[in-house]
Amino acid sequence: MTGRVMPRMLDTETASYAENVIRERGVKLRLNTKGVEFRGRKMAETLVLEDGEVLKADMFIAATGIRPNVDFLRDSGLPMVHGLLVNDRLEVGAADIYAAGDVAETVDIVTGKRYVHALHLNAVAQGILAAHNVLGYGRVYPGAENVNSLKHLGLPMVAAGEMQGDEEIKVKGQAFLRKLVLKNNRLVGFRLVGDIRHAGVYHSLILKKADLSRYKDHLLNDGFGVGLINSLSLKPAGGN
Ligand SMILES: Cc1cc2nc3c(=O)[nH]c(=O)nc-3n(C[C@H](O)[C@H](O)[C@H](O)COP(=O)(O)OP(=O)(O)OC[C@H]3O[C@@H](n4cnc5c(N)ncnc54)[C@H](O)[C@@H]3O)c2cc1C
Repeated sequence: MTGRVMPRMLDTETASYAENVIRERGVKLRLNTKGVEFRGRKMAETLVLEDGEVLKADMFIAATGIRPNVDFLRDSGLPMVHGLLVNDRLEVGAADIYAAGDVAETVDIVTGKRYVHALHLNAVAQGILAAHNVLGYGRVYPGAENVNSLKHLGLPMVAAGEMQGDEEIKVKGQAFLRKLVLKNNRLVGFRLVGDIRHAGVYHSLILKKADLSRYKDHLLNDGFGVGLINSLSLKPAGGN
């Protein structure tokens, strides 16, 4: 539907690496259009695209987007936009009603913006936290993480956090791209394709909100890693 594959996970430049691999495998991609109708007599025989093109196939698989299953709650009066709006205790509107997982619209741990993250690690963390709060522990949810990793195409990819900041640091070659996104000297996102080294370290730097102004030129160095982070004694933003 957009101009690139996996638009929630990859920016245009990173997606082009995935698209190249998909095309090399003989798959024809159609971007900037969408399927609007299946046609056939007893079963689907063709798919009509928005731009009028008609595709014929033996099998069709529809797999697109994420939509929380909240229709059965539409008349409940509970606050919702895409998913159920929860507070920092994962309560929905009134006390004693909690939401966790794909159904919940939570804040993002990096941006603070509301979003349905729809990832397994968030669902598990939210489920545990909501259960604690049902039992009266009053725990506060720090926010959902936006982290994805894929290797289905034979092309390892890890993507996390924001796609845009005020600074971008990258190295690339024909088969790899390593891109870090910074805002106010803090790492707010990264996209690694073909070479996913240090993904865990970058992820940790995002969560630490560490001030990297003195070290950012080293972040993509081959030797960069946990040892270097320890030796740099990075401190969380605002921490002592
Ligand atoms: C194809 C696909 C690939 C994915 N890949 C990844 C991945 O690589 N990494 C990752 O982190 N996440 C991935 N996810 C997302 C991950 O599966 C979800 O984030 C996670 O399962 C959410 O957990 P949940 O408990 O909120 O919802 P679900 O796992 O969807 O569980 C909800 C349950 O509630 C039941 N239910 C629904 N309505 C009602 C009702 N009215 N009454 C009673 N029961 C009801 C459903 O039947 C279901 O059993 C993927 C999802 C899909 C579909």
